[in-house]
Amino acid sequence: MLAQLQTQLHARQATLVAVSKTHPPERIMDLYHQGQRIFGENRPQEMLAKYQVLPKDIEWHLIGHLQTNKVRLIAPFVRMIHAVDSLRLLQEIDKQAQKNNRVIDCLLQFYIAAEETKFGLDEQEAADLLQSPEYRAMQHVRLCGVMGMATFTDDQNQVRQEFRHLHDIFLRLKQQFFANEPAFREISMGMSGDWTLALEEGSTMVRIGSLLFGERSA
Ligand SMILES: *Cc1c(COP(=O)(O)O)cnc(C)c1O
Repeated sequence: MLAQLQTQLHARQATLVAVSKTHPPERIMDLYHQGQRIFGENRPQEMLAKYQVLPKDIEWHLIGHLQTNKVRLIAPFVRMIHAVDSLRLLQEIDKQAQKNNRVIDCLLQFYIAAEETKFGLDEQEAADLLQSPEYRAMQHVRLCGVMGMATFTDDQNQVRQEFRHLHDIFLRLKQQFFANEPAFREISMGMSGDWTLALEEGSTMVRIGSLLFGERSA
């Protein structure tokens, strides 16, 4: 499965984040030996525990909702934080990154689904964040793009529209706020059930768990 996925993603120059949450380090090493280096987790403690025992050339991506009081656990090593959904969270990331003498790459999470349970900003909130003096003063975070999760539904058309919406948001933000910043180029969208649609709609990063590791029990 991994090789097949990598071939298709490579053709579109998209990045694979292998979502290893709930799976033990041995399973991660299976994919590591096949060349995979980017892994995604959604719990800071779990990611820290795995970081401590696994090879140091793994790039760890925190993909799920992140509480401000957990940022310090992962700030020393996290490669990218996908789900920034408030100025307060970004401020904490900036603060912890500074303590560790690093710059942490982040994505802004947008609310694109028709499900109340999902997190994320709307476009106005993002604009407010990007224009705030607090954001402008930050020196230890680098915004690299956007992230979103589509509605969990069989309606392909709805999912496609939601991905298209995220792509449009990305283009508008790029033009308004990041026109001169090549690092702002990622659209993190697509999971096991909808990654082909996401690629068709311009995803640059897919986050895939169950397709690679099998169903999660937890
Ligand atoms: C778990 C998770 C994924 C991967 O989900 P699969 O359906 O197993 O591919 C992707 N993104 C986020 C934010 C997740 O929490």
